[in-house]
Amino acid sequence: MQKIGILGGGQLGRMLLQAAANYPVETFILENDDQCPAAHLCHHFVKGDIRNFDDVYNFGKGLDAITIEIESVNEDALEKLEQEGVRVYPRPAALRTIKNKILQKEFYKEKQIPTSPFIITQNLAELRANASFLPAVHKIGIGGYDGRGVQLLNASDDLPKGFDAPAVLEKMVTIHREISLIIAVNDKNEIAFYPLVDMVVDQRLNLLDYQISPAEVNEKTLWKIEAIALAVVKGLKSAGIFAVELFVDKQGDVFVNETAPRVHNSGHHTIEANYSSQFDMLWRVMLQYPLGNTDAILPAAIVNLVGAEGFEGEAKYQGLEEILAMDNVFVHLYGKKQTKPGRKMGHVTIVSKDKQDLTYKANRIKNILKVVC
Ligand code: ADP
Repeated sequence: MQKIGILGGGQLGRMLLQAAANYPVETFILENDDQCPAAHLCHHFVKGDIRNFDDVYNFGKGLDAITIEIESVNEDALEKLEQEGVRVYPRPAALRTIKNKILQKEFYKEKQIPTSPFIITQNLAELRANASFLPAVHKIGIGGYDGRGVQLLNASDDLPKGFDAPAVLEKMVTIHREISLIIAVNDKNEIAFYPLVDMVVDQRLNLLDYQISPAEVNEKTLWKIEAIALAVVKGLKSAGIFAVELFVDKQGDVFVNETAPRVHNSGHHTIEANYSSQFDMLWRVMLQYPLGNTDAILPAAIVNLVGAEGFEGEAKYQGLEEILAMDNVFVHLYGKKQTKPGRKMGHVTIVSKDKQDLTYKANRIKNILKVVC
């Protein structure tokens, strides 16, 4: 039986392990927090720091393959493991490119992949010197996550909100739609696209609000999106699962926003709504089985369940019974003991033939279900 490790034990690791139960695989998790969402679903839990070279290297030695559920891992250790024959998904070189938003943007530029124009700023003084580039979005090179490393700079008054660290300053796109496309690539370079996902963002938290799939776009836009996403994964030269996030503007122009080299929040509905979920697919890739069928069984929506404003403490789920009484609604709680405002605590998937039913239920769920304490 193959031994496969996951760096990180959050909700993505948890859902990967749920899918692993269908396959002949021995699973390992490396994570500091032994109460993390994935801890009790793996065969072997190893306590350690995913950012520490020795912890990652010692964890990976002797495994057949290894994957990540978060980008902030020690890629030097992964590189050494790869040299020693451990299969790593994504490849450490691809991870290195993606992990730093500066390198990621330079990669798009070099490969002539459409992305909004940008400049690099090393510190606040350099940002100020480029005030004429506004309106723009400032994105920290390393360490940003869930909107925390991103500042919208509309006018020069906003400049103090920028980062005093190496960052990308990119032109603000007038976003009409935000789309995500999940792609699977196996070791033979075979590729499978999932149907597009429409991402609706909560502007206040700068965090995903709800998502609908398949997104309705015209054929020309679909082709553009698929061609861009294909160029991204070809350029990265790595097997694995990739989520390419794109902006479509009013003119129908498409720009890559960013790529995640792993299973992604925008693919959670694939558990119920697609024949092979993104989690099932990653096991197929890692275990070198044939790719699964990415087709949608039914249209779906995802509502993210985040900690309510003003509540920090032991999580309680208000409205859960009411949600569970609704038809074709699937609740996923991540098992995190503590809630705090904005923390991802779970998600709810709705499936329905009728798109109006999806948005109606998504809004109802957002109003009823709350994580409090
Ligand atoms: P994170 O990695 O934290 O999710 P993103 O790069 O996806 O950060 O940015 C978060 C959000 O900020 C995006 O979903 C989008 O709504 C907005 N945003 C990012 N870049 C731009 C841009 N160039 N123009 C307009 N809005 C942007």
